[in-house]
Amino acid sequence: MTCDYIALAAQGVQGLTPYVPGKPVEELERELGISNIIKLASNENPLGPSPKVLAALEQVKAELSRYPDGNGFKLKQALSQHLGVAMDTITLGNGSNDVLEIIARAYLAPGDEAIYSQYAFAVYPISIQAVNATAVVTPAINYGHDLKAMAAAITAKTKLIFIANPNNPTGTWFGKAEWEAFMAQVPETVLVVLDEAYIEYVEDAGALDGLQYVNRYPNLIVSRTFSKAYGLAGLRVGYCISHPQVANVLNRVRQPFNVDSFALAAATAVLDDADYLQRSRQINSDGMRQLVEGFKKLGLDYIPSAGNFIVVHVGRDAGPVYQSLLKEGVIVRPVANYGMPHSLRISIGLPQENQRFLGALQRVLQ
Ligand SMILES: *Cc1c(COP(=O)(O)O)cnc(C)c1O
Repeated sequence: MTCDYIALAAQGVQGLTPYVPGKPVEELERELGISNIIKLASNENPLGPSPKVLAALEQVKAELSRYPDGNGFKLKQALSQHLGVAMDTITLGNGSNDVLEIIARAYLAPGDEAIYSQYAFAVYPISIQAVNATAVVTPAINYGHDLKAMAAAITAKTKLIFIANPNNPTGTWFGKAEWEAFMAQVPETVLVVLDEAYIEYVEDAGALDGLQYVNRYPNLIVSRTFSKAYGLAGLRVGYCISHPQVANVLNRVRQPFNVDSFALAAATAVLDDADYLQRSRQINSDGMRQLVEGFKKLGLDYIPSAGNFIVVHVGRDAGPVYQSLLKEGVIVRPVANYGMPHSLRISIGLPQENQRFLGALQRVLQ
């Protein structure tokens, strides 16, 4: 071979480093030859899928030789009713990752700038880099987004700002006052992506809800997902709500059948399962309390979190701690690639899983 196919790739793509996912259970099983592994690494819903989803999937099977509905009519209709938004404000994605990437492809060109915070979700830099745009990273405050610094980083070249609330991996969040002061400083020509992947877990009734602002700010895009509180991570379905003109643009860029038939049917069905969502929230708030109490007993610092995961500081290089936990059959998430080498991110599990993790952590840290 005389051709270097890496050098041949588009310039932005050459600089990409792939997203590092949580370790799959089966991979650890193969590596260690052990079973009874628990995974608290990818912010997945520990309840398993809703029974309504399983029933809906059964119905879809007979139609699998057909293309999915490329417009996702039924899901958009259900979302429209559920969220109180017009159907033409909705863009569906193959997970909200897809939506984030569609936004970057639609609005970023080489030379354009996109802003995100230190400790932000890894998909933002990847989406920006892939189109060879310029990432502008602002420092965090106490692990959270510094919205003032983000507003101050806007230049004539800025096209996009990515903000997650609550943020992954830190679990940090901000409120309405900070948000409104921020948006007041952002010109209409700069699109703001408010990533609310964990909004369903936020317990404070007075918390910021991005959807209440989409009418006020035409440059606001609110993205959400079915992967977390709705328990459909394996099916890949998410969406964003925006001004209809922005949705029109995003729909030009997305693949015509980016959400498959199973995903469309499952998401439509789970929107109807208020009980499942309620149980998801309950198991999460109980588990969060359980982990926080466990960390306190172990004398470990942690970052208070509004999501379905929590970052704990282990007070030493977290790499070996992560490896030792693997040997105990517990998969958590190292966050050194996010610039937090002494910390681990734990997704909230079922009570017995949380207990097992805390026991393993205690043994490993001894
Ligand atoms: C999990 C997560 C998503 C959702 O990803 P999907 O592609 O919808 O599974 C989006 N943003 C953040 C910050 C996340 O943590």
